[in-house]
Amino acid sequence: MAKNFTAEEAQRLAAQWELPHAQRVCPSCGHVGMRVYYHMYHSVNGDRFITYLWCPVCHAFSGSSGPPRGRKVLNDPLASMDPQDLLALDANMEKMLKTLDRLWEQGKLPQERPA
Ligand SMILES: [Zn+2]
Repeated sequence: MAKNFTAEEAQRLAAQWELPHAQRVCPSCGHVGMRVYYHMYHSVNGDRFITYLWCPVCHAFSGSSGPPRGRKVLNDPLASMDPQDLLALDANMEKMLKTLDRLWEQGKLPQERPA
């Protein structure tokens, strides 16, 4: 079941920031190979750059969002999704991660790393 990393797990994950995501160790279950998904959320208040980082085995995750600061999201398989539908999906993180895992297995993820 999807769960946020604890503060201590997040710290151990942050310590691996130099490694490619595929080589990072899940601080929750020890699986090697974290997954990441980037999405640009457009709203009247401006764009938000959203990052989901998760473990495909235990579904421990972290989500963050911030101003784009020039970053662009390349080849987003959910780009054409209705923003309201995406918000609903985001509200059910287990469903969100299952969707992302499916896209991963279909080869539609991972994306290129945002510039
Ligand atoms: Zn894990």
